[in-house]
Amino acid sequence: SLSPLVVCFGEMLIDFVPTINGLSLADAPAYKKAPGGAPANVAVGISRLGGSAAFIGKVGEDEFGYMLADILKQNNVNSEGMRFDPGARTALAFVTLRSDGEREFMFYRNPSADMLLQESELDFDLIKKAKIFHYGSISLITEPCKSAHIAAAKAAKDAGVILSYDPNLRLPLWPSAQSAREGILNIWEIADIIKISEEEISFLTEGEDPYDDAVVLKLFHPNLKLLLVTEGADGCRYYTKNFSGRVKGFKVDAVDTTGAGDAFVAGILSQLALDLSLVEKEDELRDALKFANACGAITVTERGAIPALPTKEAVLNTMLK
Ligand code: ADP
Repeated sequence: SLSPLVVCFGEMLIDFVPTINGLSLADAPAYKKAPGGAPANVAVGISRLGGSAAFIGKVGEDEFGYMLADILKQNNVNSEGMRFDPGARTALAFVTLRSDGEREFMFYRNPSADMLLQESELDFDLIKKAKIFHYGSISLITEPCKSAHIAAAKAAKDAGVILSYDPNLRLPLWPSAQSAREGILNIWEIADIIKISEEEISFLTEGEDPYDDAVVLKLFHPNLKLLLVTEGADGCRYYTKNFSGRVKGFKVDAVDTTGAGDAFVAGILSQLALDLSLVEKEDELRDALKFANACGAITVTERGAIPALPTKEAVLNTMLK
């Protein structure tokens, strides 16, 4: 493919998604297997939009791991950097869907293969070939994966690759709030592009108002080119060195919001990979974010993350409505 490569790094797992909304994990009568994991969702999202993407991460040498590798291949995502751990299982997530489509997760991670990824297993050549390296892991908790994750992000940065970061904070997974804050800051400080939620802003600013621009700007640093705050159905906010604003979302019936943030990230990164100077031109950036909002909106109308990610054609149709 001729389009610039986006390498996505972190976990890939199976989401068990209930077939009916509004029931607790124990009461849901049936689940469907859906491939997911934030950075893998972004990789498939970019590919489905017509971009070029690779995924780097580790799964178990089990049927779930092979299923995930197949899904990447079916979606034209480069999986050369994927590793299979013979001694650990693929990570699993059990989803509870509330009536409004919002979700809660319970993870099988004790530890799962993704958490055992080692620095020596990383494909640094692939990382250095990227135009954008997107890091979106929630498993930056324990060794050895913690060192491997930081090494991958630093290698990208040192090679002049644009570093994109989505902290994907899932607080219960961290041993403490302090460790989560430190873990996030390791990557935050060197990132060029960051996508964050309101919950993550309040967490990082110790409970301050995430709607206050002055609070958000406390998190801005001199290296940062673009800070994006997603706000569910409301759309998103953007902050650059020179301007900031809001782009409203699309009205859809939400069934399952899993993967919306990742679809949004895929939408914006696929465009920034082609032209990073979008971050300097507010009108063009707003158009790109409208496209990203449409990616997120379409994704919430279907169950699962990867199955719900849109094609470019679907996004353009939604934008015309
Ligand atoms: P995350 O999945 O990371 O929690 P959000 O829920 O904020 O992220 O969703 C990311 C983007 O997806 C939003 O900025 C918005 O554009 C779109 N989106 C999410 N939920 C909805 C919804 N209910 N209706 C329309 N668009 C949505």
